[in-house]
Amino acid sequence: MKRTADVVIIGGGCMGASVAYHLTRRSITDVVLVEREKLLATGSTGRNAGGVRHQFSNEANIKLSLESIRLLERFADEVGQSIDFHQDGYLFLLSSPASVDVFRRNVALQRSLGVDVEWLDAADALRLAPGLDATGVIAATFCARDGIADPNGVTMGFAKAAQAAGAAIERDTEVVSLRVDSGRIAAVETTRGTIETRAVVNAAGPHARAIGRMAGLDVPVDPIRRHIFIASSNPEPKNAEPRTNNPEPGTRKPEPDWPHSRIMVIDFDTTFYFHREGAGLLFGMGDPDETPTFDMTVQWDFLPKVIDVAVRRLPALADASVSHAWAGLYEMTADGNPIVGPAREVGGLFLVNGFSGHGFQHSPAAGRIVADLIAGRDPAFDVTPFALERFARAKARATGERYVV
Ligand SMILES: Cc1cc2nc3c(=O)[nH]c(=O)nc-3n(C[C@H](O)[C@H](O)[C@H](O)COP(=O)(O)OP(=O)(O)OC[C@H]3O[C@@H](n4cnc5c(N)ncnc54)[C@H](O)[C@@H]3O)c2cc1C
Repeated sequence: MKRTADVVIIGGGCMGASVAYHLTRRSITDVVLVEREKLLATGSTGRNAGGVRHQFSNEANIKLSLESIRLLERFADEVGQSIDFHQDGYLFLLSSPASVDVFRRNVALQRSLGVDVEWLDAADALRLAPGLDATGVIAATFCARDGIADPNGVTMGFAKAAQAAGAAIERDTEVVSLRVDSGRIAAVETTRGTIETRAVVNAAGPHARAIGRMAGLDVPVDPIRRHIFIASSNPEPKNAEPRTNNPEPGTRKPEPDWPHSRIMVIDFDTTFYFHREGAGLLFGMGDPDETPTFDMTVQWDFLPKVIDVAVRRLPALADASVSHAWAGLYEMTADGNPIVGPAREVGGLFLVNGFSGHGFQHSPAAGRIVADLIAGRDPAFDVTPFALERFARAKARATGERYVV
């Protein structure tokens, strides 16, 4: 392993890999990315739903999406990896006047920034997402350029391109402490030795706070467990004749009664969401009772609570079987916005943390911005809403992100 580097990146998820890629594109190639696991993208990045959307409530997040989605659309050509990007849209279902009010303001904001978002009624929503029960839906919004992409593909694309340009990627290597001399980063101590450096990027996802502490800094990111469930379709009616081993030629399994496209449907007022995954369905819902934890054990007693809500919106789920589930960690901040930029109290420390459930989709732009800041370039992006210092101000929550799903 190298003993010196211009930049050390801690964390080999989508965020660290994106920073590495964008640094090499700025001719900063003396870079070491350190990941404690044996593989990249096994943290939050490897456990997410792959959703990518323009529909946010906060201007800075919409701008991150605009830039990120532009890169995801040309990822194979520009970065050299296919990422299975399906732009079948995001459909938000709104069932309360309060949500409609919030969305009215935010659709106006999104449109003012050039996002093509449509207002729909329940009948339009049903046409886009067959199988829905739209009872109680009073309005919906849809953006056709939102979609689903492969988080592993994006991470490996960035990482391989960075490596090809000269960056080193050290797996199975844990950062155990940071050396700070006279208020400036001086070195990174790892389980495989010390790397002298003047610049460190904290890209440790839900572990960002622990890395911050190593430099005497509070990075207020909490790990909050989120579940994802996968349902397989059971399209056979319960009283059907037993199937023969030799179905008549031309007979096909009936399709389950859920969308054929990979449209992401979000029932905003309950946070239940789903999209098609192969022939099955990926779905989840926020659990307001979760408190910060690093425990990623699946809580199977949460499933009946999700199903209760889910079958009201997607009745076919009542006949489906949940084939597997996993849990991962959101890296939450108090206002749902990320922390991006230099840590002013520790020279040479850069933060790209706290994406609160939308870090995969924002990794292309966030990595580019951090690379520009390290390179001393103007990032052409106002990172004030993402400054660490905002948490010292009382009103952080009021200006943060409302669409945390
Ligand atoms: C269930 C779920 C669904 C989600 N759905 C979406 C979605 O649809 N769309 C979306 O945009 N986002 C989604 N997210 C959020 C998204 O996954 C995260 O915001 C994103 O992956 C954060 O990436 P990261 O690289 O910062 O963190 P991570 O992927 O967690 O990477 C951090 C890495 O740092 C490493 N690390 C930590 N400490 C050390 C150390 N001391 N030394 C060395 N390495 C260390 C870890 O091993 C890890 O690999 C979801 C998250 C979850 C849990």
